[in-house]
Amino acid sequence: MKIDVIGSGSALSIIRNTSSILVTDNHEQRWLIDCGPTVPRALWQRCLDVNDIDVLYFTHIHPDHCAGLPVLLNRWKSFGRHKPLIIYCQPQQREILQQLVSMATWPVPEICFDIDWRDSQAQWQWQQWHLYTAATQHEMPNLSLRIEVDGQALFYSGDGRPTEASSALMQGCDLAFQECAVSQPLPKESSHGDVVSCLALQQSLSLPVLGLYHCFDEEIANIEAIIAGHPQVFLSYDGLMLDLDLGVAVAKLT
Ligand SMILES: [Zn+2]
Repeated sequence: MKIDVIGSGSALSIIRNTSSILVTDNHEQRWLIDCGPTVPRALWQRCLDVNDIDVLYFTHIHPDHCAGLPVLLNRWKSFGRHKPLIIYCQPQQREILQQLVSMATWPVPEICFDIDWRDSQAQWQWQQWHLYTAATQHEMPNLSLRIEVDGQALFYSGDGRPTEASSALMQGCDLAFQECAVSQPLPKESSHGDVVSCLALQQSLSLPVLGLYHCFDEEIANIEAIIAGHPQVFLSYDGLMLDLDLGVAVAKLT
């Protein structure tokens, strides 16, 4: 499994793209996880073919996680994508995403490729991928995702503070990404992660590699300072490419 960090920033970051990753398996099948407003241009800079992404997965529909959708689809329309696209999302959030799709095609209702809307479930299979979701604690329902393929496991939190259920999905992963807004402890009922609780989680689950992301710009320096002494934890960044076949050494990431 290869992971390309398209964006690692918080909703209003002025120095990082909005958070998103592109996951590629050993058969060149690709999932894009979330698509915020600055994600489309970052994708175009990678010179991918319009048919290269098979699936979009949305953790939730805050704008910083989905507002890039019409722009991305409009480009695929302009350059003649023909491969059917699968979009996974929470059923209650589909209608909003469909409105974004209609923006990409308006005034005509169709686009030049099929879009297959599917509900995110607690667990399912796509091709040889095994997917598992669990809710985090967030101001709107957010489903974190565990991907198992090619004998490897990846966790991506989307937005929100870890829950018992989302922490269970992290267990045994080769690599986990957890949203971490700030450097100071937040109240238990908070809608975001903090570095202290993330470090505790890494220890309690013995996670081999935990990447923190979606940090507020003004908190990044403090978070970096706090994790400096924790060799299993790193601060994710835009453009980071990881190949789980090669292993992930945190020392090389910082
Ligand atoms: Zn959110």
